[in-house]
Amino acid sequence: MKKLLLFLVGAAAFAQDAPDHPSVTAQGTTFTPRSILARNMGTPDDQTTAFPPHNIVGNVYYVGTKTLSAFLVVTPKGNILIDSTYERNVRTVQKSIEQLGFKFSETRILLGNHAHGDHMEGDALVKELTGAQVVSMAEDVPALKAMKPGGKEHPVDRIIHDGDTVTLGEATLTAHLTAGHTRGATTWTLPVTEAGKTYQVVFYTSLRSPNVLTLPVIDEFNRSFAVVRKLPCDVPLGDHPSEYGMTAKYAKRKPGAPNPFIDPSGCHLESDMQEAMFEAILAEQAEQHKAEQPR
Ligand SMILES: [Zn+2]
Repeated sequence: MKKLLLFLVGAAAFAQDAPDHPSVTAQGTTFTPRSILARNMGTPDDQTTAFPPHNIVGNVYYVGTKTLSAFLVVTPKGNILIDSTYERNVRTVQKSIEQLGFKFSETRILLGNHAHGDHMEGDALVKELTGAQVVSMAEDVPALKAMKPGGKEHPVDRIIHDGDTVTLGEATLTAHLTAGHTRGATTWTLPVTEAGKTYQVVFYTSLRSPNVLTLPVIDEFNRSFAVVRKLPCDVPLGDHPSEYGMTAKYAKRKPGAPNPFIDPSGCHLESDMQEAMFEAILAEQAEQHKAEQPR
């Protein structure tokens, strides 16, 4: 009972609460679990206000809010949406898609990056409005099934596993299981063409460590950090725009200028920082454990 209460309190506090230790410094910025969460989520307004929808590279577009990413991959056979975000944002995402000149009703496939409400809560509504096929990583299905906004069942039309691909028109995305943040957290890769050149787009999932690390989750993160390091990458993206510096890059996106989203040197900035934080949390936890041992 006590455990259940703690869990409920933890779930309610989840969105804004994390400890202010340990800290790690990356690219001149000092991060704590609390500051990473604040950076990712912004204010409640940031979470629900559309960021100007824009082309990223080739047939990939941004259609999310200021702090919650949603991406559209456009093909002649219809479109793929990555992340519905919160259910209350679905109409905002729809508007962004329409603002770009595409039809929301042509969303054929809905993918997700990990089974948390800020990224996938709107799946049922997107399915209801577009009829899109909802594709889910097997390891995240239990968490998705527990997500029921307004009592709606979470749709799961196709269950995939690590390495599986999703194809529509000329677009083929590959799913990479990069668990830790959730059991089925998925990083998607997609080769795209722009001006006759092919670029590897990586839709990174969150690699943010929970505040308490259990043995299975430690194993998952150790595997996932090794996996992301090996992915070919030219265009790093993330489930929160701050993970890839969207605002600064967007400001530099000008006709005739080099595409700022093509940024191979930025591919591992976020995962390196998250790995350093994971190691720091692990070290802190080991110290605590030692202190708690009877002498
Ligand atoms: Zn999350």
